[in-house]
Amino acid sequence: MVKLSQCQMCGGLMSPPTSTGVCKDCWDKDEEMFNKARAAMRFGEKLLPEDLSAKTGIDMKHIQRWTSQGRFG
Ligand SMILES: [Zn+2]
Repeated sequence: MVKLSQCQMCGGLMSPPTSTGVCKDCWDKDEEMFNKARAAMRFGEKLLPEDLSAKTGIDMKHIQRWTSQGRFG
């Protein structure tokens, strides 16, 4: 059975699942949003997802996804 995964951005199905949780169509947009979120954080600053969401206007679910993927390092 082929493992299907749902894109966290557009909800489309993708196979195989990607490491970022978004499909190839959303990849660039995901990168762009991630860079914007990261730029909104000062070095070493730990913002709560809701704070960062309010600051950037980015949906909290994406911020939580990046956090769970360890992308904020
Ligand atoms: Zn997508």
